[in-house]
Amino acid sequence: MTAPSATSFIPPVDAEMATGSLVINLSRIASNYRRLCEELGDVPCGACVKANGYGLGASQVGQALWAAGCRDFFVAIAAEGVALRRALPDARIHVFAGLSSAPASAFAEHQLIPVLNALGDVTAWRAFSSELPCDLHIDTGMSRLGFDEQEMVAIAADPSLIEGINVDIVMSHLASADVENSLQSAAQRQEFEAGTATICAVHPGARRSLANSSGIFLGTDFHYDIARPGAAIYGINPTPWTESPMSQTIHLKGKILQTRFVDTPRTVGYGAAHAVTGPTRLATVGAGYADGYLRSLSGNGTAWIRNVEVPIVGRVSMDMVTVDITALQDDTAEVGEWVTLIGGDFDADATARAAGTIGYEILTSLGQRYQRRYIGGPTEAEIGS
Ligand SMILES: *Cc1c(COP(=O)(O)O)cnc(C)c1O
Repeated sequence: MTAPSATSFIPPVDAEMATGSLVINLSRIASNYRRLCEELGDVPCGACVKANGYGLGASQVGQALWAAGCRDFFVAIAAEGVALRRALPDARIHVFAGLSSAPASAFAEHQLIPVLNALGDVTAWRAFSSELPCDLHIDTGMSRLGFDEQEMVAIAADPSLIEGINVDIVMSHLASADVENSLQSAAQRQEFEAGTATICAVHPGARRSLANSSGIFLGTDFHYDIARPGAAIYGINPTPWTESPMSQTIHLKGKILQTRFVDTPRTVGYGAAHAVTGPTRLATVGAGYADGYLRSLSGNGTAWIRNVEVPIVGRVSMDMVTVDITALQDDTAEVGEWVTLIGGDFDADATARAAGTIGYEILTSLGQRYQRRYIGGPTEAEIGS
């Protein structure tokens, strides 16, 4: 008997058997990317495709962005870079967690660029290669990854600490870019100016990068030499203080598994969290928290059937939600009909607001039981170019 493969997981779901349908619009992803390029003017725009392209498929998204002109891609850990390399043979792939996520030899083997986050990383990379490119990360306020204040003081006093390596990008990450007129963004920018001055004195050819999605909309002061947005590419609003300049990229639907007529008194779902108060028609839809339809949407979510808005009632179950379809006057919702869960005006951001989270979490939670279809993708020729 052979042991099940450690990498086995839910196989791709085909149309006939799917109870959930996720359509991912690659031409919208490309047009969002171009919108960011427009905002950046002459400054090049990279793309974050970590966490499997924010849940939407790093390979597919990566190839669509490559066709749109993107050349620098950012992932969180080396393993993601290894997978992305197969889809993008010629891209520059940068790995935020750098040498903490894989040995130096793996970066060389797959032509990945490690972000060096500490002086110890610099020492290790220099011993490995003085030629292969690396990035440097200065911590200016996230306190997560990057050279800390003491290390920056040490580098200023002794620039040889960062000599003997080939630096591509010097970066830092904004903590409050999605807050309009944040004092923290201004302070981080000042600290980044000082830090990059120190580093670029040793590595004059290094490219400076500060802006994530929201950072791009803080103005040209934040653009530097390359931006690295993620969320906005996928349709999440980078300017929460005003209307979104991005277009939405996904449409999620669930299939009706059963309908029923319920009269009072009766409750719906676990914990009897919803009570039917009068003659009510309910539909049970095949998507639940195991599919990334978050449990915090219990009693808060909204669905659409035939363009009629209908509420999610009771608790979200693992595999199902219950929808009150009484508002459908003609009363004809049927088993097998599709209900929109995310789409139209009710996009990932709206879903997030209802769930008490952020659009990032909605996208990266999207499950593996949906039939995933990509539309508007690039041609073979565009991918190869
Ligand atoms: C995720 C990430 C980004 C992209 O941020 P968005 O808000 O999704 O645009 C940029 N830089 C770093 C270091 C990140 O971790």
